[in-house]
Amino acid sequence: MTRFNFDVITLFPKAFESINNLGVITRALDKNLINVNLHDLREYGEGNYRQVDDKPYGGGSGMVLKPEPIYKAHDSIDKLPNSKTLLMTPQGKVLKQQDLLRWSSLDQLIIICGQYEGFDERVRCLADEEVSIGDYVLSGGEIPSISIINGLTRLLPGTLGDPGSLIDESHNSSLLEYPHYTRPLIFREMRVPDILVSGNHEEIKLWRKQKMLERTLDRRNDLISNEDYKKVPKSKRINRDSNEIMKFRIGNGYDIHRLVEGRDLIIGGVKMQHPDNLGLDGHSDADVLSHSIMDALLGALSLGDIGKYFPPSDQKWKNADSLFLLSKVIELIRKEGWEVNNIDSVIVAERPKIEPHVQLMKNNISNTLQINGSFIGIKATTNEKLGPEGREEGISCHSVVLLEKKE
Ligand code: SAH
Repeated sequence: MTRFNFDVITLFPKAFESINNLGVITRALDKNLINVNLHDLREYGEGNYRQVDDKPYGGGSGMVLKPEPIYKAHDSIDKLPNSKTLLMTPQGKVLKQQDLLRWSSLDQLIIICGQYEGFDERVRCLADEEVSIGDYVLSGGEIPSISIINGLTRLLPGTLGDPGSLIDESHNSSLLEYPHYTRPLIFREMRVPDILVSGNHEEIKLWRKQKMLERTLDRRNDLISNEDYKKVPKSKRINRDSNEIMKFRIGNGYDIHRLVEGRDLIIGGVKMQHPDNLGLDGHSDADVLSHSIMDALLGALSLGDIGKYFPPSDQKWKNADSLFLLSKVIELIRKEGWEVNNIDSVIVAERPKIEPHVQLMKNNISNTLQINGSFIGIKATTNEKLGPEGREEGISCHSVVLLEKKE
Protein backbone atom coordinates (compact mmCIF):
# COMPACT_ATOMS: atom_id res chain seq x y z
CA MET A 1 0.00 0.00 0.00
CA THR A 2 1.38 3.45 -0.86
CA ARG A 3 1.71 5.93 1.89
CA PHE A 4 0.03 9.32 1.73
CA ASN A 5 2.53 12.13 2.26
CA PHE A 6 1.70 15.41 3.91
CA ASP A 7 4.45 18.01 3.67
CA VAL A 8 3.67 21.06 5.73
CA ILE A 9 5.54 24.34 5.54
CA THR A 10 5.03 26.12 8.84
CA LEU A 11 6.62 28.58 11.24
CA PHE A 12 5.17 26.60 14.15
CA PRO A 13 5.91 22.88 13.70
CA LYS A 14 5.16 22.33 17.37
CA ALA A 15 1.50 23.09 16.66
CA PHE A 16 1.38 19.70 14.94
CA GLU A 17 2.21 17.72 18.07
CA SER A 18 -1.51 17.33 18.65
CA ILE A 19 -1.86 15.05 15.63
CA ASN A 20 -0.07 12.37 17.60
CA ASN A 21 -3.01 12.38 19.96
CA LEU A 22 -5.91 12.40 17.55
CA GLY A 23 -7.08 8.80 17.46
CA VAL A 24 -7.54 8.00 13.82
CA ILE A 25 -4.51 9.98 12.67
CA THR A 26 -2.30 8.49 15.35
CA ARG A 27 -3.39 5.05 14.22
CA ALA A 28 -2.66 5.94 10.59
CA LEU A 29 0.79 7.20 11.58
CA ASP A 30 1.45 4.03 13.58
CA LYS A 31 0.34 1.87 10.67
CA ASN A 32 2.51 3.90 8.31
CA LEU A 33 -0.50 4.83 6.19
CA ILE A 34 0.52 8.46 6.26
CA ASN A 35 3.68 10.45 6.62
CA VAL A 36 3.59 13.94 8.05
CA ASN A 37 6.77 15.84 7.22
CA LEU A 38 7.08 19.20 8.90
CA HIS A 39 9.23 21.83 7.22
CA ASP A 40 10.17 24.56 9.66
CA LEU A 41 10.01 27.82 7.75
CA ARG A 42 12.52 29.38 10.15
CA GLU A 43 15.24 27.11 8.75
CA TYR A 44 14.78 28.76 5.38
CA GLY A 45 14.86 32.28 6.87
CA GLU A 46 17.44 34.83 5.81
CA GLY A 47 20.50 36.18 7.61
CA ASN A 48 21.68 35.59 11.14
CA TYR A 49 18.21 36.12 12.48
CA ARG A 50 16.69 33.74 9.97
CA GLN A 51 14.19 36.41 9.05
CA VAL A 52 10.98 35.10 7.52
CA ASP A 53 8.73 38.16 7.66
CA ASP A 54 8.88 41.84 6.90
CA LYS A 55 6.82 45.02 6.94
CA PRO A 56 4.28 45.42 4.16
CA TYR A 57 5.09 47.71 1.27
CA GLY A 58 2.79 50.69 1.30
CA GLY A 59 2.53 50.64 5.09
CA GLY A 60 -0.14 49.17 7.30
CA SER A 61 -0.15 47.06 10.39
CA GLY A 62 1.36 43.64 10.96
CA MET A 63 4.06 41.63 9.29
CA VAL A 64 3.96 39.66 6.06
CA LEU A 65 5.74 36.36 5.34
CA LYS A 66 8.52 36.92 2.80
CA PRO A 67 8.37 34.94 -0.44
CA GLU A 68 11.98 33.64 -0.54
CA PRO A 69 11.88 31.34 2.53
CA ILE A 70 8.56 29.81 1.45
CA TYR A 71 9.85 29.20 -2.09
CA LYS A 72 13.07 27.70 -0.70
CA ALA A 73 11.15 25.40 1.62
CA HIS A 74 8.83 24.39 -1.22
CA ASP A 75 11.80 23.70 -3.55
CA SER A 76 13.41 21.49 -0.90
CA ILE A 77 10.45 19.08 -0.79
CA ASP A 78 10.68 15.94 -2.93
CA LYS A 79 7.62 16.00 -5.13
CA LEU A 80 5.85 12.75 -5.78
CA PRO A 81 4.27 12.34 -9.24
CA ASN A 82 0.77 12.76 -7.90
CA SER A 83 1.14 15.86 -5.78
CA LYS A 84 -0.65 19.12 -5.11
CA THR A 85 0.28 22.25 -3.22
CA LEU A 86 -2.39 23.87 -1.06
CA LEU A 87 -2.14 27.38 0.33
CA MET A 88 -4.05 28.03 3.54
CA THR A 89 -5.86 31.35 3.30
CA PRO A 90 -9.23 32.71 4.41
CA GLN A 91 -9.49 34.05 0.86
CA GLY A 92 -9.46 30.55 -0.64
CA LYS A 93 -12.28 28.29 -1.72
CA VAL A 94 -14.12 27.01 1.34
CA LEU A 95 -13.15 23.41 2.08
CA LYS A 96 -15.76 20.77 1.31
CA GLN A 97 -15.86 17.03 1.92
CA GLN A 98 -15.69 16.58 -1.85
CA ASP A 99 -12.24 18.26 -1.86
CA LEU A 100 -10.93 15.81 0.72
CA LEU A 101 -12.28 12.92 -1.33
CA ARG A 102 -10.67 14.32 -4.46
CA TRP A 103 -7.28 14.79 -2.81
CA SER A 104 -7.39 11.38 -1.13
CA SER A 105 -6.47 9.77 -4.45
CA LEU A 106 -3.20 11.76 -4.65
CA ASP A 107 0.11 10.62 -3.16
CA GLN A 108 1.11 13.90 -1.61
CA LEU A 109 -0.24 17.21 -0.36
CA ILE A 110 2.14 20.07 0.27
CA ILE A 111 0.48 22.52 2.61
CA ILE A 112 1.68 26.09 3.11
CA CYS A 113 0.64 27.77 6.36
CA GLY A 114 0.53 31.54 6.56
CA GLN A 115 1.04 33.58 9.72
CA TYR A 116 0.65 37.19 10.90
CA GLU A 117 -0.97 39.34 8.21
CA GLY A 118 -0.46 36.52 5.71
CA PHE A 119 2.12 36.07 2.98
CA ASP A 120 3.62 37.99 0.11
CA GLU A 121 1.20 37.87 -2.83
CA ARG A 122 3.82 36.09 -4.98
CA VAL A 123 3.54 32.98 -2.79
CA ARG A 124 0.19 32.37 -4.49
CA CYS A 125 2.04 31.21 -7.64
CA LEU A 126 3.18 28.09 -5.76
CA ALA A 127 -0.33 26.93 -5.02
CA ASP A 128 -2.45 24.58 -7.07
CA GLU A 129 -5.37 25.46 -4.84
CA GLU A 130 -6.07 28.09 -2.19
CA VAL A 131 -8.11 26.71 0.66
CA SER A 132 -10.10 28.32 3.44
CA ILE A 133 -11.63 26.27 6.23
CA GLY A 134 -14.47 28.74 6.77
CA ASP A 135 -15.45 32.35 6.74
CA TYR A 136 -13.46 33.40 9.77
CA VAL A 137 -9.84 34.34 10.35
CA LEU A 138 -7.39 32.34 12.46
CA SER A 139 -3.94 33.50 13.42
CA GLY A 140 -2.16 30.91 11.30
CA GLY A 141 -2.60 28.13 8.76
CA GLU A 142 -1.65 25.35 11.21
CA ILE A 143 -5.15 24.55 12.48
CA PRO A 144 -6.59 24.65 8.95
CA SER A 145 -3.91 22.25 7.75
CA ILE A 146 -4.43 19.90 10.72
CA SER A 147 -8.10 19.87 9.73
CA ILE A 148 -7.16 18.81 6.22
CA ILE A 149 -4.74 16.14 7.43
CA ASN A 150 -7.37 14.82 9.80
CA GLY A 151 -10.27 14.88 7.34
CA LEU A 152 -8.29 13.31 4.53
CA THR A 153 -6.58 10.62 6.62
CA ARG A 154 -9.85 9.15 7.83
CA LEU A 155 -10.84 8.62 4.19
CA LEU A 156 -7.77 6.50 3.43
CA PRO A 157 -8.31 2.76 3.23
CA GLY A 158 -7.29 0.96 6.41
CA THR A 159 -7.60 3.99 8.69
CA LEU A 160 -11.10 3.69 10.08
CA GLY A 161 -12.16 0.61 12.02
CA ASP A 162 -15.42 0.42 10.07
CA PRO A 163 -15.25 1.92 6.58
CA GLY A 164 -19.06 1.68 6.43
CA SER A 165 -19.20 4.65 8.77
CA LEU A 166 -18.06 6.83 5.88
CA ILE A 167 -21.04 6.08 3.73
CA ASP A 168 -23.97 7.89 5.36
CA GLU A 169 -21.86 10.57 6.88
CA SER A 170 -22.73 14.26 6.68
CA HIS A 171 -21.52 15.92 3.49
CA ASN A 172 -20.70 12.68 1.75
CA SER A 173 -23.94 13.01 -0.09
CA SER A 174 -25.15 16.56 0.06
CA LEU A 175 -27.20 15.65 3.14
CA LEU A 176 -26.31 15.88 6.82
CA GLU A 177 -26.26 12.62 8.73
CA TYR A 178 -29.21 11.22 10.73
CA PRO A 179 -29.21 11.39 14.56
CA HIS A 180 -27.32 8.70 16.48
CA TYR A 181 -28.24 7.05 19.77
CA THR A 182 -26.44 4.54 21.93
CA ARG A 183 -27.22 2.92 25.29
CA PRO A 184 -28.99 3.60 27.63
CA LEU A 185 -32.47 3.36 26.12
CA ILE A 186 -33.80 6.07 28.42
CA PHE A 187 -31.52 8.82 29.64
CA ARG A 188 -32.92 11.59 31.85
CA GLU A 189 -36.40 10.82 30.52
CA MET A 190 -35.21 11.13 26.93
CA ARG A 191 -36.03 7.94 25.09
CA VAL A 192 -34.38 6.47 22.02
CA PRO A 193 -36.93 6.51 19.14
CA ASP A 194 -38.86 3.21 19.11
CA ILE A 195 -38.03 2.55 15.48
CA LEU A 196 -34.33 2.15 16.26
CA VAL A 197 -35.02 -0.71 18.66
CA SER A 198 -37.72 -2.25 16.48
CA GLY A 199 -35.27 -4.50 14.65
CA ASN A 200 -37.00 -3.62 11.37
CA HIS A 201 -34.01 -2.73 9.23
CA GLU A 202 -35.99 -1.57 6.21
CA GLU A 203 -38.00 0.83 8.35
CA ILE A 204 -34.86 2.03 10.13
CA LYS A 205 -33.25 2.74 6.78
CA LEU A 206 -36.25 4.79 5.69
CA TRP A 207 -36.40 6.61 9.02
CA ARG A 208 -32.74 7.53 8.72
CA LYS A 209 -33.19 8.79 5.18
CA GLN A 210 -36.09 10.91 6.29
CA LYS A 211 -34.12 12.30 9.24
CA MET A 212 -31.21 13.18 6.96
CA LEU A 213 -33.54 15.20 4.83
CA GLU A 214 -35.30 16.77 7.79
CA ARG A 215 -32.00 17.74 9.41
CA THR A 216 -30.61 19.21 6.25
CA LEU A 217 -33.77 21.21 5.62
CA ASP A 218 -33.67 22.44 9.18
CA ARG A 219 -30.04 23.39 9.38
CA ARG A 220 -28.56 23.62 5.92
CA ASN A 221 -31.35 24.27 3.48
CA ASP A 222 -28.71 25.57 1.08
CA LEU A 223 -27.32 22.04 0.63
CA ILE A 224 -30.53 20.43 -0.50
CA SER A 225 -31.34 19.74 -4.09
CA ASN A 226 -34.62 18.67 -5.60
CA GLU A 227 -32.96 15.37 -6.47
CA ASP A 228 -32.34 14.61 -2.78
CA TYR A 229 -35.94 15.43 -2.05
CA LYS A 230 -37.20 13.07 -4.71
CA LYS A 231 -35.11 10.21 -3.29
CA VAL A 232 -37.36 10.00 -0.23
CA PRO A 233 -40.46 7.88 -0.87
CA LYS A 234 -43.60 10.01 -1.22
CA SER A 235 -45.26 8.37 1.76
CA LYS A 236 -42.31 9.32 3.94
CA ARG A 237 -41.99 12.96 2.97
CA ILE A 238 -42.68 15.08 5.98
CA ASN A 239 -45.07 18.03 5.85
CA ARG A 240 -42.42 20.52 6.67
CA ASP A 241 -40.45 19.47 3.62
CA SER A 242 -43.21 20.53 1.34
CA ASN A 243 -43.43 23.79 3.29
CA GLU A 244 -39.82 24.40 2.46
CA ILE A 245 -40.07 23.49 -1.16
CA MET A 246 -43.55 24.82 -1.98
CA LYS A 247 -43.58 28.48 -2.77
CA PHE A 248 -47.35 28.89 -2.43
CA ARG A 249 -50.00 27.82 0.06
CA ILE A 250 -53.72 28.36 -0.28
CA GLY A 251 -56.18 28.83 2.60
CA ASN A 252 -59.92 28.86 2.94
CA GLY A 253 -61.97 30.51 5.72
CA TYR A 254 -65.65 30.64 6.57
CA ASP A 255 -67.58 32.39 9.33
CA ILE A 256 -71.20 33.09 10.19
CA HIS A 257 -72.71 35.14 13.03
CA ARG A 258 -76.29 35.51 14.16
CA LEU A 259 -78.19 38.77 13.62
CA VAL A 260 -79.63 40.01 16.92
CA GLU A 261 -80.95 43.19 18.46
CA GLY A 262 -78.76 45.33 20.65
CA ARG A 263 -75.45 44.62 18.90
CA ASP A 264 -73.39 46.61 16.41
CA LEU A 265 -73.15 45.47 12.82
CA ILE A 266 -69.45 45.57 11.99
CA ILE A 267 -68.01 44.01 8.84
CA GLY A 268 -64.43 44.54 7.72
CA GLY A 269 -64.09 47.09 10.52
CA VAL A 270 -66.93 49.18 9.06
CA LYS A 271 -69.89 49.95 11.29
CA MET A 272 -73.12 49.76 9.31
CA GLN A 273 -76.77 50.39 9.94
CA HIS A 274 -79.19 47.48 9.53
CA PRO A 275 -82.71 48.56 8.46
CA ASP A 276 -84.12 46.70 11.52
CA ASN A 277 -81.27 47.86 13.78
CA LEU A 278 -79.85 44.35 14.00
CA GLY A 279 -76.22 43.60 14.69
CA LEU A 280 -73.98 40.54 14.77
CA ASP A 281 -73.75 38.49 17.93
CA GLY A 282 -70.49 37.02 19.11
CA HIS A 283 -67.76 37.11 21.72
CA SER A 284 -65.64 39.65 19.88
CA ASP A 285 -67.14 42.27 17.57
CA ALA A 286 -68.34 39.34 15.37
CA ASP A 287 -66.79 40.78 12.22
CA VAL A 288 -67.36 37.87 9.82
CA LEU A 289 -65.11 39.25 7.08
CA SER A 290 -62.06 39.67 9.33
CA HIS A 291 -62.75 36.30 10.93
CA SER A 292 -62.94 34.41 7.67
CA ILE A 293 -59.74 36.07 6.42
CA MET A 294 -57.96 35.08 9.65
CA ASP A 295 -59.11 31.49 9.30
CA ALA A 296 -57.98 31.41 5.68
CA LEU A 297 -54.55 32.78 6.62
CA LEU A 298 -54.10 30.27 9.44
CA GLY A 299 -55.52 27.45 7.36
CA ALA A 300 -53.05 28.13 4.56
CA LEU A 301 -50.20 27.21 6.90
CA SER A 302 -52.13 24.46 8.72
CA LEU A 303 -51.99 26.54 11.88
CA GLY A 304 -55.55 25.84 13.05
CA ASP A 305 -58.27 28.50 13.35
CA ILE A 306 -58.90 31.70 15.27
CA GLY A 307 -60.58 29.84 18.13
CA LYS A 308 -57.16 28.41 18.95
CA TYR A 309 -55.49 31.79 19.25
CA PHE A 310 -58.36 33.92 20.60
CA PRO A 311 -60.62 31.47 22.52
CA PRO A 312 -64.14 32.75 23.32
CA SER A 313 -63.52 31.55 26.88
CA ASP A 314 -60.84 34.23 27.27
CA GLN A 315 -62.34 37.48 28.61
CA LYS A 316 -59.48 39.36 26.97
CA TRP A 317 -61.17 38.98 23.57
CA LYS A 318 -64.65 40.08 24.68
CA ASN A 319 -65.86 42.70 22.17
CA ALA A 320 -62.34 42.67 20.70
CA ASP A 321 -61.73 44.67 17.55
CA SER A 322 -61.28 41.94 14.95
CA LEU A 323 -58.96 44.10 12.87
CA PHE A 324 -56.60 44.04 15.85
CA LEU A 325 -56.86 40.24 15.96
CA LEU A 326 -56.16 40.20 12.23
CA SER A 327 -53.01 42.25 12.78
CA LYS A 328 -51.84 39.58 15.25
CA VAL A 329 -52.54 36.79 12.77
CA ILE A 330 -50.62 38.47 9.97
CA GLU A 331 -47.69 38.95 12.36
CA LEU A 332 -47.68 35.21 12.93
CA ILE A 333 -47.86 34.46 9.20
CA ARG A 334 -44.90 36.74 8.51
CA LYS A 335 -42.96 35.24 11.40
CA GLU A 336 -43.41 31.86 9.69
CA GLY A 337 -41.79 33.37 6.59
CA TRP A 338 -44.85 33.86 4.39
CA GLU A 339 -46.45 36.85 2.67
CA VAL A 340 -49.98 37.38 1.41
CA ASN A 341 -50.25 37.20 -2.33
CA ASN A 342 -53.96 37.98 -2.59
CA ILE A 343 -57.28 37.58 -0.82
CA ASP A 344 -60.73 37.04 -2.20
CA SER A 345 -63.79 37.26 0.04
CA VAL A 346 -67.52 37.08 -0.43
CA ILE A 347 -69.99 38.38 2.15
CA VAL A 348 -73.44 36.76 2.14
CA ALA A 349 -76.06 39.15 3.52
CA GLU A 350 -79.67 39.83 2.60
CA ARG A 351 -79.62 43.34 4.08
CA PRO A 352 -78.22 45.98 4.45
CA LYS A 353 -76.63 46.71 1.09
CA ILE A 354 -72.94 45.88 1.47
CA GLU A 355 -71.62 47.31 -1.78
CA PRO A 356 -71.44 50.99 -0.65
CA HIS A 357 -69.14 49.96 2.21
CA VAL A 358 -66.80 47.71 0.26
CA GLN A 359 -64.14 50.36 -0.46
CA LEU A 360 -63.89 51.26 3.21
CA MET A 361 -63.63 47.58 4.17
CA LYS A 362 -60.84 47.13 1.62
CA ASN A 363 -58.99 50.12 3.07
CA ASN A 364 -59.28 48.68 6.58
CA ILE A 365 -58.06 45.22 5.57
CA SER A 366 -55.32 46.65 3.40
CA ASN A 367 -54.07 48.90 6.25
CA THR A 368 -54.22 46.10 8.78
CA LEU A 369 -52.39 43.59 6.59
CA GLN A 370 -50.08 46.22 5.11
CA ILE A 371 -50.74 45.03 1.58
CA ASN A 372 -51.90 46.94 -1.45
CA GLY A 373 -55.71 47.15 -1.81
CA SER A 374 -55.50 45.84 -5.37
CA PHE A 375 -54.66 42.40 -3.92
CA ILE A 376 -57.84 42.29 -1.87
CA GLY A 377 -61.13 41.28 -3.44
CA ILE A 378 -64.33 41.85 -1.46
CA LYS A 379 -67.67 40.96 -2.99
CA ALA A 380 -71.16 40.76 -1.58
CA THR A 381 -74.16 38.69 -2.48
CA THR A 382 -77.59 37.98 -1.08
CA ASN A 383 -78.72 34.42 -0.58
CA GLU A 384 -81.95 34.91 -2.58
CA LYS A 385 -83.90 34.68 0.68
CA LEU A 386 -82.68 31.09 1.07
CA GLY A 387 -81.06 29.58 4.14
CA PRO A 388 -80.06 31.37 7.36
CA GLU A 389 -78.60 34.39 5.51
CA GLY A 390 -81.68 34.60 3.27
CA ARG A 391 -84.00 34.51 6.30
CA GLU A 392 -81.80 37.21 7.90
CA GLU A 393 -80.90 34.98 10.82
CA GLY A 394 -77.25 35.75 10.20
CA ILE A 395 -74.53 37.06 7.92
CA SER A 396 -71.70 34.89 6.67
CA CYS A 397 -68.45 35.31 4.80
CA HIS A 398 -66.13 33.05 2.77
CA SER A 399 -62.49 33.93 2.11
CA VAL A 400 -59.67 32.43 0.14
CA VAL A 401 -56.05 33.56 0.49
CA LEU A 402 -52.89 32.70 -1.37
CA LEU A 403 -49.64 32.92 0.57
CA GLU A 404 -46.21 33.09 -0.99
CA LYS A 405 -42.99 31.99 0.70
CA LYS A 406 -40.61 34.87 1.25
CA GLU A 407 -37.04 34.39 -0.05
N1 SAH B 1 -4.78 39.22 6.56
C1 SAH B 1 -5.13 37.98 5.96
C2 SAH B 1 -5.41 36.92 7.03
C3 SAH B 1 -4.18 36.47 7.70
S1 SAH B 1 -4.47 35.26 8.89
C4 SAH B 1 -6.38 38.14 5.13
O1 SAH B 1 -7.20 39.00 5.44
O2 SAH B 1 -6.55 37.40 4.16
C5 SAH B 1 -2.94 34.46 8.93
C6 SAH B 1 -2.87 33.14 8.23
O3 SAH B 1 -3.74 32.23 8.88
C7 SAH B 1 -3.31 33.14 6.80
O4 SAH B 1 -2.26 33.50 5.93
C8 SAH B 1 -3.72 31.69 6.58
O5 SAH B 1 -2.63 30.85 6.28
C9 SAH B 1 -4.25 31.29 7.96
N2 SAH B 1 -5.72 31.35 8.05
C10 SAH B 1 -6.44 32.19 8.80
N3 SAH B 1 -7.76 31.95 8.65
C11 SAH B 1 -7.87 30.92 7.78
C12 SAH B 1 -8.97 30.22 7.23
N4 SAH B 1 -10.22 30.53 7.53
N5 SAH B 1 -8.71 29.23 6.36
C13 SAH B 1 -7.46 28.89 6.02
N6 SAH B 1 -6.38 29.54 6.51
C14 SAH B 1 -6.57 30.54 7.39
